[in-house]
Amino acid sequence: MSEPVAAPAREAPAPAKWRNPHGLLPTLRWAVQGAYLLFFVVVGIEFHSFYRQAVSGGPVTAHRPPAVEGFLPISALVGLKRFLLTGLYDEVHPAGLTILFAAILSSFLARKVFCSWVCPVGGISRALEWAGEKTIWRRRKRETLVNRWADRGLISLKYLLLAFFAWAILWQMDGDAIERFLHTPYNYAADAKMLLFFTDISRTAAITLVLLVVLSVLVKHFWCRYLCPYGALVGLVSWMSPQRVVRDGATCIDCRACTRTCPVEIPVHRKASVWTPECTGCMSCVAACPVEDCLTVTRKGKNSLSPYLIPLVGLGTIYLLWGVARLTGHWHTSLSLDTLAEVYRIAASLVHP
Ligand code: SF4
Ligand code: SF4
Ligand code: SF4
Repeated sequence: MSEPVAAPAREAPAPAKWRNPHGLLPTLRWAVQGAYLLFFVVVGIEFHSFYRQAVSGGPVTAHRPPAVEGFLPISALVGLKRFLLTGLYDEVHPAGLTILFAAILSSFLARKVFCSWVCPVGGISRALEWAGEKTIWRRRKRETLVNRWADRGLISLKYLLLAFFAWAILWQMDGDAIERFLHTPYNYAADAKMLLFFTDISRTAAITLVLLVVLSVLVKHFWCRYLCPYGALVGLVSWMSPQRVVRDGATCIDCRACTRTCPVEIPVHRKASVWTPECTGCMSCVAACPVEDCLTVTRKGKNSLSPYLIPLVGLGTIYLLWGVARLTGHWHTSLSLDTLAEVYRIAASLVHP
């Protein structure tokens, strides 16, 4: 996928925002993704205050933000299997399971909108991509760093990781093992352990994080494209989505603006339809195309969907599931403050059961 983008066959007219009805999509995406990033920073600060107060033994005035469970994908996957087996909703980390459901459903309806519009790691990844463009890659082709074959090999890593988790959780764990895991102090304190990973970071973890940051500056979306199993899962679901970017070969002028702007380096200018699970549904290519109606979303005859529907449907689905979870009592944990305080105090010494 990561082939050098050759010189365009024909010069493209410069895409003008006032002429291209989709030109505002990237700005909108920056705004939405930036807002989510800010939201998760606030969630992190809020949770840190809650954790500190809970372990101190004093009065607890801070609030535990349920959205913090979005960073507990393993617990959510175990909760998903329990839900499928028994119909019971995870009462320990219900928000984590709701977020997983929202990511899966929105990916089916609107491709990987969760990755390209919501996930804060995707936002950071995008900011690092932008930093790379503005510094190291200003006058050079970033795509030449990872050749096509290396790219394919690296992409398979995240699917291997996903296969491992699916095997270990969905295949290996029976109903009893799931109940035991969900009610271990380790799972109760999973949010605190995640916090400690960053606040009390080990040397190895710090070096790994720095390495990932550097690699993400050098290679577009290194973590998301090659290593994130959550992204692999929503990618596979989005593969079955009826929505996809389609190109009209008859009007295409082969300017390759679409391919150059694609964050995951899909050669859009050569595809009649973008089927790959790697497509994040970011709509950058549609916004960059200078020819009206040449690159659109899911076309039937002469009619196509507005690309604005992709974020609208995706984000709408996520909000809908969040609202339903809140209204039906599937958003806040059922663990008491005393239980949380107890397991948080020993969180650092807890190991995976
Ligand atoms: S691939 Fe993973 S880390 Fe990246 S945006 Fe998607 S869910 Fe977030
Ligand atoms: S093909 Fe288009 S919508 Fe898909 S990831 Fe690339 S730029 Fe985004
Ligand atoms: S689809 Fe649009 S952006 Fe891509 S090569 Fe054709 S005209 Fe250029």
